[in-house]
Amino acid sequence: MPSSLEIVRIPALSDNYIWLVHDPASDETMVVDPSVADPVLAEAKARGWRISQIWNTHWHPDHTGGNAAIKAATGCTVTGPAAEAARIPTLDRLVAEGDVVKLGAIEATVMEVPAHTAGHIAYYLPSEEIVFVGDTLFAMGCGRLFEGEAAQMHANLQRLARLPEEAKVYCAHEYTLANGRFALTVEPDNEALRQRMAGVEAMRAAGEATVPTTIALERATNPFMRAESAEMLAEWRRAKDNF
Ligand code: ZN
Ligand code: FE
Repeated sequence: MPSSLEIVRIPALSDNYIWLVHDPASDETMVVDPSVADPVLAEAKARGWRISQIWNTHWHPDHTGGNAAIKAATGCTVTGPAAEAARIPTLDRLVAEGDVVKLGAIEATVMEVPAHTAGHIAYYLPSEEIVFVGDTLFAMGCGRLFEGEAAQMHANLQRLARLPEEAKVYCAHEYTLANGRFALTVEPDNEALRQRMAGVEAMRAAGEATVPTTIALERATNPFMRAESAEMLAEWRRAKDNF
């Protein structure tokens, strides 16, 4: 069933996407990973939406920098990873693997996906077939391994790959073009990848966003999700870091 949520993409900083999520049934509005506050508050105001929650995936300032100002302006509740509570002083609710977070009557399950940061989490909304993945999974790429190992990232991506194929993946950055260029060096003969890149190049040339993506698309074209072993992922991640 298609999601009834209204999800607005707010570009911020150089390549961040902040997701403003409105549930018409409950009239609740939530923000995922606000790097900044002003454009989020402006967008919500323009739509007549009252922000009641922030959900953070990890502590990096380009995901939490807007927390304090949005909280001050709206009185919203901030939810984020318990394991990173010391680094996100604005948190009200600390969550971990298996916890359920609600937007109105819609439930999200917290998945711990450590590697980019040690406490990184994702929010999966089974009834909507939507997952907010922060900096763990990107279109044709994955997050850098700042606080974890390739084996953890490999396990995370294999776990995400088992979500429904139709599930929409909301990443926190527009990295698709650079990721795709690297992916082609790893899998130059992957026809699905070549086709996708042709589309992505046209979209970026036209100034369009390439996110959200889907689990099916990533399974077909994302080398990090397709890596058969943690060793393979590690090698490709190192190569991408220097690409
Ligand atoms: Zn990050
Ligand atoms: Fe980030």
